[in-house]
Amino acid sequence: MECDLCGKPATVIATIEGARLSACPACARHGTIIRPIPMAAPKGTKRQISAPDPKEELIETVRQDVGKLLQQHREKLKLNQEQFAAKLQIRASTYNHYESGAVVPDTVMARKLERILGVPLVVHVKVGAGVVKNEERRGMTMGDFFKKA
Ligand SMILES: [Zn+2]
Repeated sequence: MECDLCGKPATVIATIEGARLSACPACARHGTIIRPIPMAAPKGTKRQISAPDPKEELIETVRQDVGKLLQQHREKLKLNQEQFAAKLQIRASTYNHYESGAVVPDTVMARKLERILGVPLVVHVKVGAGVVKNEERRGMTMGDFFKKA
């Protein structure tokens, strides 16, 4: 999760100027910390480094169920596809492709749609993370901890 204010990694949920935000430690100082954000640690025995892999990249992609969301929203408004397309300022045929799932809108269009639908459509996906290697177990052994005189 990123700090809503500066984009750095967020570590806490905080109330800043009345708004509930995820914030980095620096920004959280301007508000009231509500609770820390737990690290997304996968279950299991694998030990992972919490710092993001520098090779890792976040890409923006559009939700694949955008068509269904559009349809639900349109039906809520009791509009037909043409009317809704006009509201979105796109061609009815284009809209039809979106709703049928034949075409997924690009991120620019999805941003526009998400404002109208009030639903986040553009999601971030990590790519290029590769295989997370198990950290080698080495160094101290249990014996080091239990040394007795
Ligand atoms: Zn910040």
